[in-house]
Amino acid sequence: MLVLLALLPGAPAAGSAQDAALTQQLIIARAAQVYAARLDEHVLDGDARFAARVNAVAATLIARARRDYPDTASWAWEVHTTNDPDQNADCMAGGKILVSQAYVQRLELGDAELAMLLAHEIEHAALHHNLKEYEQALKLAPRWAGRPFMELEHAVDHDSELIDQLAPTNYAQEVEADREGMLLAWRAGWPAAQLADYFKKMYRGSVHPRRSKPDYPSPQLRWQAARELAATLQKNYVQAPTEPLH
Ligand SMILES: [Zn+2]
Repeated sequence: MLVLLALLPGAPAAGSAQDAALTQQLIIARAAQVYAARLDEHVLDGDARFAARVNAVAATLIARARRDYPDTASWAWEVHTTNDPDQNADCMAGGKILVSQAYVQRLELGDAELAMLLAHEIEHAALHHNLKEYEQALKLAPRWAGRPFMELEHAVDHDSELIDQLAPTNYAQEVEADREGMLLAWRAGWPAAQLADYFKKMYRGSVHPRRSKPDYPSPQLRWQAARELAATLQKNYVQAPTEPLH
């Protein structure tokens, strides 16, 4: 909270060095604020069995992430479920996870497929994708530098010119989260082929499975990439590293 007060608009400006104020700490503090507001808007963990299942899968992935990405070890991770059909699943900066039961049920995801979904989202956070997107935005559109963070945050979501400029960054982040997510879940113990099945179900459940967008690869491309990575993992390794988790 202190970080937030010090860095958000309204507080004394830290000189004109807006870039210097754009830190992972700020992104995490802001995400915690937005996450809390989102939790207030939803009925949470209404199905105790589903919530327990999501928590169990998430706990295994989080334990792995804490080892593989040391800065995540100190995060205040949170996992909640909702039945909002408009939600899918996401992990905000700092490890704030929200999973829609409606989405998981619609795709009939088993535990490994659920692990792939969550691992993709966890990677967005572990790889600091939000921070990197904001940094890229300032590079592409320097006019946003030196202005309050909230203006940059709004622009990234609403300024159509900036959104277009950031599309290749977002596309690359999706590809990276798919790849690193599969590797994370595989290191956590799930078989790669079962993880790839998440993308098969997403492909089959998609209205436009072959349609890529400037900021998003098509379900078909994602499934293909997942199949290829799973085949490589199965060919080159007998099993995932089996160091015990603590
Ligand atoms: Zn994603």
